[in-house]
Formats: sequence, structure tokens, C-alpha cells
Amino acid sequence: MDIQTRINEYTAEINSFEATTAEETEKFRLRFLVNKGIVRALFDEFKMVSAEEKRALGQVLNQFKVLAENKHKSLLEGLDDKSQVGDSDQDLTLPGRGFKLGSRHPLSLVRKEIVEIFNKLGFVVAEGPEIEDDWHNFSALNFPDEHPARDMQDTFFIEKKDGNDIALRTHTSSVQVRMMEMGKPPFRAIMPGRVYRNEAISARAHCFFHQVEGLYVDEDVSFADLKQTLFFFVQELYGEGTKVRFRPSYFPFTEPSAEMDISCSICKGSGCTLCKGSGWVEILGCGMVDPNVLENCGIDSKKYSGFAFGMGIERITNLKYEIKDLRLFSENDIRFLKQFSTEII
Ligand SMILES: [Zn+2]
Repeated sequence: MDIQTRINEYTAEINSFEATTAEETEKFRLRFLVNKGIVRALFDEFKMVSAEEKRALGQVLNQFKVLAENKHKSLLEGLDDKSQVGDSDQDLTLPGRGFKLGSRHPLSLVRKEIVEIFNKLGFVVAEGPEIEDDWHNFSALNFPDEHPARDMQDTFFIEKKDGNDIALRTHTSSVQVRMMEMGKPPFRAIMPGRVYRNEAISARAHCFFHQVEGLYVDEDVSFADLKQTLFFFVQELYGEGTKVRFRPSYFPFTEPSAEMDISCSICKGSGCTLCKGSGWVEILGCGMVDPNVLENCGIDSKKYSGFAFGMGIERITNLKYEIKDLRLFSENDIRFLKQFSTEII
């Protein structure tokens, strides 16, 4: 086989040669570029050919040598690239990982909405401890010792300290007491927070839930102020045209006391499963602060009067989003949680 034919074959071999490892690249060098390699052998053979053939082959052979050297160089560079990728453990050609936004918990969304509505009326947010003593959770709120009203709230008692029961607060009314003890009227505040009751967990009851209570104490506060404030609240929360009605009720810390219902937001009063056919849905309890409570907190009940109200955030949320099982709020099931807004404030 003459030199030209072999150069053609070797050229094809070089062009199609691939190496993924250092060993394979070295194999290429040993075959073509070392002293006993093909390139050198062809040059040795070239010396023996006639002058006429030298003229024809000289340039071809030089080009072949350059081709072999360049191929080796590019094989080495290819190895460099691969080893960099391997070292850093990162594939920079992969698409980026998207930044996933979480969503607000439905209770947080509703709590925020309630707070914003009362902020418009000048109510500030007040907070207090979740572990309370008997005085702030019961006695100051007109629940005397051994009074059956205490049985309305199944309580987690923690310990007895200096003859005083320490418990997980059963309502955020304890924050109202603390606020009145520490300050001077007028008071206009809402108290959102978590409360605890010793109840079996079911679709309709839980051992903890969330409340927003409100308190307004000033001179000449009347039941008319209470009605107007809560009327404004439901128009804002459930839309204009929502009707309210008050039913007489009993709470130890208010007199008179009432439950407030709103017209059913689903059926608009004609009756559905949500309102159990009545057209009305109960959303909160309220009343005029009992003068005893004001006096317990060092406020002159002859001069000042006030109203208070309280609602469960879960209840408001259930009505708003038609959620039928309370347990969903605390199970951290992402399929449930991700249905709510991702709005950032
Ligand atoms: Zn209805």
C-alpha cells in the first residue's frame, strides 16, 4: 500500500477517534505521535522515496502531522473540561431550580383581614401570654371560684402556684384584663391569639384554636356603639348588604350579652346546608362589659362603660372558604395549604 493511501486511511481514523478517558487519549499519542509511532514511521519512509514522490507527498505528510498533533491537543482539552465538571459535582448545563413561594395559612389570611378592618376604626392590636393565672383568665372576668360558668370552658390546668391555678388561657379575654390593669381608659383594642380547651379533637372541635376579641371602654359607650361597630365589621368582611341579628345570651363578663348572627353568605337567607336551612349563621359573642370586670381592673364603672366581643378565627375562616373539618388547619397537609393566597405584604 503506498504512502498516500495509508495517509488517507490514518486521516479517517484520526478524524473519527474519540477519547473519554486519559488512557484512551494516551493510546492515541502512543499510536501516532511517539518515536515509534505512525507519524515518525511515515517520515522515515518518506526519506526513501524518489525525489518526484517527495514533491507530491511533502505537503500532504506535513499536514497529516499537524492533524495528528492538533487532534491530540483537542483530546487533552476535552479531558480538562470533563474533569472540571466531575470535580465540582455540578452540572452547569442543567436548568435552574425555580424559587418556590409558600402560601399564607388560611387562618393568618383571615386574622390579617380582621385586624385590618378594626384598624380602620382605630382599634390597636394587644397581645398577652398563653400561660395564664386564674385571676386573669377567670376571676377578674367575673367567674367566681366554683361557679358553674367555669365549666363552659374545659381548661388545661398546668400547676398551682401560691394557691393560684396556672392554666393555658381558654380565651384571649385575659389580655383585656391585663390591658385594663396596666392602662387608663379609653381603650380600643383587639386581641388576636391562640387559646386552649381540653376537648376531644374532631372535625368540629380542637384542643386549640384562635380567637380575636375586641374591647372598647370609654365614657358613654352604649350598646348602639357595639352594634354599629360590629355591623361595619361584617359589611367589610362579608360584603355590603350582609344583615345582622342579635340573640340574648350569657357570658360572665358581659351584661347584657348577645350572640350575633349574620345572614348566610351562601344562600342569602333562603336556607342551605351551611346555615342548616335557617338563613342565619352565628359568628360571634358580644355584650356590654360587666361593671364588676371594670372594677376588678381598677376602672371606675360609674364613669366608664364599654363593650367587648369575641370570635373564633377558625369559624370565620370556615365560613369564608367553606372548610368543613377543623383538623385541616393543623395537619400541615400541603395539598390543603397551597390552595391559599401567596400574597406577600
Ligand atoms: Zn345558607
